[in-house]
Amino acid sequence: MLFLSAVIHADTITLRGIGKSQPIRRLTIDKIDYLSATDLFAAVGAKTDWGEGHKALDVSLGNKRLSFEVARHLCKVEGNDYNLVHAPVLRNDEMYLPVQQSLFLLSDVLERVLVYDDDEAMITAVKEGFNVSGVNFLTKVNGDLLEINLTKKLDYEVFVSEGNWVNVTIHGGRVDVPRLTRRNPHEKIINVRAFQFDNSAQVSVQLRENVVEFHANYAPDPHRIQISVENTAFVSQAGDSTTLQRHDEYNPIDVIVIDPGHGGDRDGAVGKNGLKEKDVVLDIALRLETILEKSKRFTPVLTRREDKNVSLEERAQLANFARGDLFISFHANSSDQKSATGSQTFFLSPAKNDEARITALLENQDYQVDNPDPTDRNKKDLDFIIMDVLQTEYLNQSRQLAESIQQELANGLNVRSRGIDQAGFIVLNKVQMPSALVEVAFISNKVESRLLAQENFRQVAAEAVYNAIVRFADHYEKDKTSAGSQ
Ligand SMILES: [Zn+2]
Repeated sequence: MLFLSAVIHADTITLRGIGKSQPIRRLTIDKIDYLSATDLFAAVGAKTDWGEGHKALDVSLGNKRLSFEVARHLCKVEGNDYNLVHAPVLRNDEMYLPVQQSLFLLSDVLERVLVYDDDEAMITAVKEGFNVSGVNFLTKVNGDLLEINLTKKLDYEVFVSEGNWVNVTIHGGRVDVPRLTRRNPHEKIINVRAFQFDNSAQVSVQLRENVVEFHANYAPDPHRIQISVENTAFVSQAGDSTTLQRHDEYNPIDVIVIDPGHGGDRDGAVGKNGLKEKDVVLDIALRLETILEKSKRFTPVLTRREDKNVSLEERAQLANFARGDLFISFHANSSDQKSATGSQTFFLSPAKNDEARITALLENQDYQVDNPDPTDRNKKDLDFIIMDVLQTEYLNQSRQLAESIQQELANGLNVRSRGIDQAGFIVLNKVQMPSALVEVAFISNKVESRLLAQENFRQVAAEAVYNAIVRFADHYEKDKTSAGSQ
C-alpha cells in the first residue's frame, strides 16, 4: 500500500568484476533506486538467512555479517548500526535495498569498491589498487555539485583553468582512467579527462557554463571530494526559483538528524528526583521524530533510538552517512547553582564566556571517557580545532538555526529563555551540516526537573523544535528564490 501513489519502474542491472556477470532486479520508486537483496547477495557470493516472511535478512559474507529489515532505517554491519536514508522495501515478497548506501556498505565488507552506474544499468567492482573511482555530477535545486569518488581519504587541490576546466589534483591518487573517461556523466559537462602521474592523479572536468565561483570540501562515508559550482549561465537561465544562493547550500533541507545526548552507561546530568538526562532527551527526540514523519516534508534520522551508549564520533558519522541537512542535539542542562534555570540553544564556535565553556565541558565529558589519552588534540585545544574544520562554513546557518530553535522554545516552554550562545561541542564539530545543541531546561533545578518529567512539557519542546525546523527550512527556500536579484 506504500506504493499506491508512487511511480515505480522495474528492470535489471548487471554486476561486473566479481564472480560471473549476473542480472540483479532493480526497482525505481519515486526516483530512488533499489536492488533485490536476493539477487545482489547471490551475485557477490554471500549467504542469506531470511526471517519473518522475507522482511528480515541476515547476510554472511566470509566472516562478515550484515542485517537488514524492511521499513527499518537502521541496518547492522558487524554489530554496528548504520542509518539508511531510505529503508529497505518489500515488493512481491522480495526485499529491495536502496542502491547507493547498500553498495557502500557492501564495498566496505568486500574490500572492493562497487561503483553504480544507473544509466548503463551496471555495477562495477573496481579493481584493487585504484582509489579514485568515479565522477558524479548532480544538479540540485540551487546549484551544481561535482563529486569525485574515492575509496579512502586523500589530500587534494582544486583549481579552475581557462575554458571552464575544474581540475582536481589528488595526492596519492590512483585513477581508473578508462572508467572515468568512458562516458560523460552529465549534459552540463563537455569533457572529463583523467591523468595518472607518479605520485598523484588529476581529474579534469570541463563544464559547459562559466565557472564564477567554486567551493570544495571532503566528505566521508562514502569518501568523496565535493565541488559545488556557481556559474553565470545557470543563474541567468534558471530563473528565480532555482538560483544558487550560497556555494555551501546545494541540498533541500529534508533529512533532519536528531541526536538525543548520552545513553547507556552515560546518564548525562541527573536531577534530584532521579530523573536522567539521557531518558528525557531520548523521549523528546522520539516525539520530534513522530512529528517530522507525520509532516511528510522531512525525513528524521536518529543517532540512537534506545538507551545505549553511542560515541560522539559515531553520532557525527551516522549523521554524515545519512547526508543530513540539519543536526540537532538534545540535552538538559545542569549547574552547581541550583537556582540556575532556563532553556538555551548553542551553535558551534569558540566560547566567549565561562558559562558556555562549562556547558560544553559537561557535554564533552562522554568524549573524555571514551578517549582517555590526555594528549588528544580535541581535548587539548578544542577552540583551535573548531577553527580548522568544515563546520566553520556552516557557522551562519548554525547560528540562524539556533536562533530559530531558541525563539520557538521561548514561545512554547514555560521556562525562561537564556537566549543563544556559542561553545566548542565535540559532537557538533564533526558533523558536516548546520547544527545546534539544545539545552531544554535545567535538570539540576527542582522546578525544571519536575517539568522535564512531564510528558506535556516534552511534547511542547519537540513541537517547538519542529516549528523552528519548518521556519528555518522555509526561510532557506525563500532565500534561494530572492538570491537571483542580488
Ligand atoms: Zn547532555
